[in-house]
Amino acid sequence: MEVGKNIVEFKKSLPSEVCLVAVSKTKPNELILDAYQIGQRIFGENKVQDLVAKYESLPKDIEWHMIGHLQRNKVKYIAPFVVLIHGVDSAKLLAEINKQALKANRIQAVLLQIHIAQEESKFGLSFSEAEEILNDRKNGNYPNVKIEGLMGMATNSDDQNVVNKEFSNLHNFYKKNKDEFALSTLSMGMSGDYNVAIANGSNMIRIGSTLFGARNY
Ligand SMILES: *Cc1c(COP(=O)(O)O)cnc(C)c1O
Repeated sequence: MEVGKNIVEFKKSLPSEVCLVAVSKTKPNELILDAYQIGQRIFGENKVQDLVAKYESLPKDIEWHMIGHLQRNKVKYIAPFVVLIHGVDSAKLLAEINKQALKANRIQAVLLQIHIAQEESKFGLSFSEAEEILNDRKNGNYPNVKIEGLMGMATNSDDQNVVNKEFSNLHNFYKKNKDEFALSTLSMGMSGDYNVAIANGSNMIRIGSTLFGARNY
C-alpha cells in the first residue's frame, strides 16, 4: 500500500482551505514515514499509549493530534507535545488539560467535541454545555488552553440526509459562535462522510482507511 501516493492523490481533490489529518491509528511507523516522505506532517491517533510511542520513535516535526476519547488520568502523558486535542467533552477534562499544559509550560490548543449523532455511544457536549465552557474561557478560566474550534462525528449511517442534517447543525452553531470566541477550526468528516462534511463548512477532516487501508485491530 503506497500511502504517500494515496495522500498526494487525495489532496488534489480537496479544497485548499481544508486541513487533512492523516489518521494513522493501528498503523506501523513504516506507513507513517511513507506519508511523511511526501510532506504530510499532521497525523491523528486515538490512543494515548500509541500516540506517545509514535511521538518518541518518529520525526519530531510531526504534528500529533489526539482525536479519540481522552481520559483525564492520561492527559499528562501527551501534554508536553500534542499539537491539537479534538475530543474535549467535559469541563473536568478541560481543567485537567489546563493543569497539565501549565506544568508543561504550554498553551494547549483544543477543540470542543459536540454530540451531534443519534447514537448514544458517541461522546460530546451539548450546544449549551459548549457555550458555557466557551464563556468560562472568555472570562479567564483555563488560561493555558486555547479553544480553537469544534469537532463532531455524525451518525454512522448510509442515509445522507441524516449525516447532512447533523453536520449542518454543527456548522450553524460554529458560525454563530465563531467571531465571539475567535474559533477557526471545524473538524468534521471521516472517510465515509468527508464530502458531506466539507459541503457543510468543515475545514479539518480526519481520514484513516481511505489513505491507509482498512484497519488491522
Ligand atoms: C478512526 C477515526 C477517524 C478516521 O476514520 P476513517 O473512517 O478510517 O477515515 C476519524 N475520526 C476519529 C475520531 C476516529 O477515531
